Amino acid sequence: MSPLRSYVSGTWHTPSDAGTPVHDAATGEEIARVSTTGIDMAAALDYGRRVGGPALRELTFHQRGALLKALASHLREHRDELYALSAKTGATLGDSKFDIDGGIGVLFTYSSKGRRELPNDTVWPEGAVEPLSKGGTFVGQHILSPMHGVAVQINAFNFPVWGPLEKFAPAFLAGMPSLIKPASQTAYLTHRLVEIIVESGILPEGSLQLVCGSAGDLLDHVTAQDVVSFTGSASTASQLRAHPSIVRNAVRFNAEADSLNLSILGRESTKGTAEFDLFVKQLVTEMIVKAGQKCTAIRRAFVPAELMDDVASAASERLAKVTVGNPASEGVRMGALASLEQREEVRRSLKALMDVGTVVYGDPEQVDVVDADAQRGAFISPVLLRVDDAERAEPHQVEAFGPVATLIPYTSTEQVIELAARGEGSLVGSVVTGDKAFAREVVLGVAPWHGRLLVLDADDAKESTGHGSPLPALVHGGPGRAGGGEEMGGLNGVKHHMQRTAVQASPTVLTEVTGQWVPGAPRSEGTHPFRKSLAELLVGDTVVAGPRRVTEEDIAHFADFTGDTFYAHTDEEAAAANPLFGGIVAHGYLVVSFAAGLFVAPEPGPVLANYGLENLRFLTPVKPGDELTVTLTAKQITPRENADYGEVRWDTDVTNADGESVAKYDVLTLVSKEQK
Ligand code: NDP
Repeated sequence: MSPLRSYVSGTWHTPSDAGTPVHDAATGEEIARVSTTGIDMAAALDYGRRVGGPALRELTFHQRGALLKALASHLREHRDELYALSAKTGATLGDSKFDIDGGIGVLFTYSSKGRRELPNDTVWPEGAVEPLSKGGTFVGQHILSPMHGVAVQINAFNFPVWGPLEKFAPAFLAGMPSLIKPASQTAYLTHRLVEIIVESGILPEGSLQLVCGSAGDLLDHVTAQDVVSFTGSASTASQLRAHPSIVRNAVRFNAEADSLNLSILGRESTKGTAEFDLFVKQLVTEMIVKAGQKCTAIRRAFVPAELMDDVASAASERLAKVTVGNPASEGVRMGALASLEQREEVRRSLKALMDVGTVVYGDPEQVDVVDADAQRGAFISPVLLRVDDAERAEPHQVEAFGPVATLIPYTSTEQVIELAARGEGSLVGSVVTGDKAFAREVVLGVAPWHGRLLVLDADDAKESTGHGSPLPALVHGGPGRAGGGEEMGGLNGVKHHMQRTAVQASPTVLTEVTGQWVPGAPRSEGTHPFRKSLAELLVGDTVVAGPRRVTEEDIAHFADFTGDTFYAHTDEEAAAANPLFGGIVAHGYLVVSFAAGLFVAPEPGPVLANYGLENLRFLTPVKPGDELTVTLTAKQITPRENADYGEVRWDTDVTNADGESVAKYDVLTLVSKEQK
């Protein structure tokens, strides 16, 4: 059997040696070999920087988003093939879906976020323009631009599809090429995934490379523009973090490592309550999904001391119903660990835990399996322990990376918060309670040690995505022992692959740099901008309309007509006593409506719809007799990739006769790309 090929420098590389064998987790049969012998890692990184980076940076965020969507749809067509291969990692069909569908889901989410939340441009202006001078000629803004290196991923064995895709999607959207190094144990599944991607031809050349086997001297060649993202053991994380090239070049290094995730049962959640059942059910689910080989799985289950026996017996009852065996067989709910070595590792950790606790359910050495050989395959029983002395260090420190959890008692809210911190940083924690005050106290108490917290109760249980599922829109990562990193978290994950630069300049230059009109930059009056298609419209195109006098009758009519008879618009005496107004004022919505009446170009034309207002502020009261003028300026133009129209954001400033702004906001419209 020749080793898996790697995809580097635009070609499939076949290793020159025999490689290291990799075995089917359930049967022990050799199924692949891995080797990186002969791969020029420096050349691969250089290729990514030279070929992949420029190709990606030429595309706008929306174009990258569209490619992510096309890729996700393509991979969806190949799911069955990937599921079948995934069974060899020890995964049941449910586990495989978690990995494969989960990974494809991340691509879809980033595609959609890129197209909805980012400009259709290659530069990302971040946040508001900061005024830096009295006269308004000197302003500042942060811009984000893609790093010019390669996003190097070093992945764990447990999620051979989700792992690479959840790191790839935000990097790609940012405009950075990726190089994937999967864990050797399950590299054959990632290998097939990348083969499918490369064969599809969807991605620009150089934007994705693959190295199957050991990392070799890969990290020796990383530079200041590269990003390294690692998932795996805490010990490898600390070793890689200190790698001389990473330290010397101040390379961005993100780690996501194993942690002692917790679940806390509320004190009022006694046997018979919905939350008691939810706690037990979730605990068992987290033990058996992926045979507990999930960085997010619950390791420490904190239970009110008086409920320990009830929880132990309810969980045991559920665990007894779990069928272990060949992951491809029907009815099997828990498959094998990834390898025999992993099983030895789990048994070693279990021994340390059993020295200070007792086994409530399971036997680390013995398990009944269906359709498989329990010894040749990496099978192990789920093992639930209890450590009644919560002060013992081991349950807070030793992680058995398998279907293992420990029940630990607590007697007060303060104590459980203090015990939670002994895990020294986790990816995720659950608080299972029907008591809102307890939930608040615990969430605020344990938040500094967690990247994500789930409060599970009867209200959200049905729709909850569960403790163990990292979500692309939310942060995945945690402090301290969990690696100290952050992945995904919506657009934050994209920013991890970009450089933030504060640009200080005049409004005119800043407009030129960002492509978005900045107040103070020139405006251009002429043809009404509502008469221009996207092809003709430029940022800075403006209409100034007015003045229009606001009369007492207008205000009374608006109050009558809309039913908004708030006293400040209708009751002279009461309005006079209002310390902010000192008399009748116009409704804010009347001002906005009059402004629309002033700036509109009513005949049919390229403007298709008004779809909202943003950042509306009423700044100065409008009194009867005041005259309103509105200035509407095209601020941001965002053509849609897949439609014949796009969005225009208009800076809107309504002023009175003294030139004071009475209202400021952004009007959002949809505009045709071409004149009809
Ligand atoms: P490792 O930390 O050993 O490996 C993770 C990744 O790092 C693999 O791709 C591995 O490659 C690579 N790697 C290891 N050493 C180096 C190095 N010196 N330079 C560059 N890359 C390196 O974890 P394992 O996969 O062996 O799992 C061990 C333990 O890690 C588990 O028992 C569990 O406790 C924890 N773990 C945590 C996970 C999490 O999600 N947080 C996931 C999986 C495991 P290769 O496979 O080729 O050696």
